[in-house]
Amino acid sequence: MSESKNYKIETKCVQSGYTPANGEPRVLPIYQSTTYKYDSSTHLGDLFDLKAPGHMYSRISNPTVDAVEKKIADMEGGTGAVLTSSGQAANLLAILNITSAGQNIISMSSIYGGTINLFAVTLKRLGIEVRFVTPQMSDEEVASHIDENTRMFFGETIANPALVVFDIERYAKIAHDHGIPLVVDNTFATPILCRPFEFGADIVIHSTTKYMDGHAQVVGGVVVDGGRFDWTKGDKFKELTTPDESYHGVVYTKDFGVENAYFTKLRVQLIRDFGTPLAPMPAYLLNIGLETLALRMERHCSNALTVAKYLEQSDKVAWVNYPKLEGNSEYALAEKYLPLGACGVISFGVKGGRDAAVKFMDSLKMATIVVHVADARTSVLHPASTTHRQLTDEQLVDAGITPELVRFSVGIENVEDIIADIEQALEASQK
Ligand SMILES: *Cc1c(COP(=O)(O)O)cnc(C)c1O
Repeated sequence: MSESKNYKIETKCVQSGYTPANGEPRVLPIYQSTTYKYDSSTHLGDLFDLKAPGHMYSRISNPTVDAVEKKIADMEGGTGAVLTSSGQAANLLAILNITSAGQNIISMSSIYGGTINLFAVTLKRLGIEVRFVTPQMSDEEVASHIDENTRMFFGETIANPALVVFDIERYAKIAHDHGIPLVVDNTFATPILCRPFEFGADIVIHSTTKYMDGHAQVVGGVVVDGGRFDWTKGDKFKELTTPDESYHGVVYTKDFGVENAYFTKLRVQLIRDFGTPLAPMPAYLLNIGLETLALRMERHCSNALTVAKYLEQSDKVAWVNYPKLEGNSEYALAEKYLPLGACGVISFGVKGGRDAAVKFMDSLKMATIVVHVADARTSVLHPASTTHRQLTDEQLVDAGITPELVRFSVGIENVEDIIADIEQALEASQK
């Protein structure tokens, strides 16, 4: 493991997490077992008390899952990672790990629709308030939302689907000035395009369902611990710094070190209690996706930029949003945080509003309508009538979505075929 920490990101994609010993399988095996065998009940007792490392039950950990967690932690530059059954579970557990009823978190308003539902409806029912802020607010205005019960600051590196780029350094400073961690959902950027820990983030989350898997095969999520936030400063994070009664008084920051406290607690307490692990087979498939992530992201980015430039000059397109287009409101932030590219997702408005947008989508031949994004195959979605349909008009505007917005997820096919498909569908949209 220590050696792989020094590898470049492309090498980590392939090599990190699993290193077979002499005569062992070259490819990460699928440990399709819920249980593990022990020579003595004393040893098992030590596992239950977290005194010895090892696996006891696959709801909490499993060797296949463990290898993929180590790979992702390595790729992000974190101290540890916990895979979850979905990106939604990753977001939920990342918050509940350090936030309880009566407390609150701060979130950027431009975020994934599913996360808005979780924040604005379900967390509220659990007694956790989410306070939304926008990039237009001054630092002082943002800070005015933080009080002694605030537990974290949340944003998405590239917001899905508004494609607003998160100014990680700016908000890391505000968060740290107030003694709270910055939590970044890095799903769209992936660690290939941006590693938020390098800009001061403390916790990174992914829906691995998207680019990390990349083949639309397995729903999954991950929470990665940057290991640098000092939970012992101040007395906010008592759940990490005082005894956990459900483990005979383990103190996470003391017994596992400040750098491992957050992800250890998330696994042994929250995955244990809520029961949202990733299973071995999906972890195995995810790992295959990760091996080619660097190559795929390169192609997604170059294809998307070419498509965005094509759309920009088309007289059948009202507007194009892609952070790497010069003149885009996010261009400067994208240059800073996403030097290699801004992923494969473009949003644009077809001239003629909602009806023309629907006609365009229905006329595509290669690109398909799916409730998914960030797939190797080019795909397309109309958020206002699908993923974001439960939002109010006001929430839609806050999330940066208009009725004619088409979310176009550029795949890794030959870009000429993608543009030819768009061209004929745009033609049809105006009839
Ligand atoms: C898809 C997505 C999620 C939710 O992930 P699932 O794996 O679908 O549960 C969370 N955040 C972002 C940015 C996403 O794109």
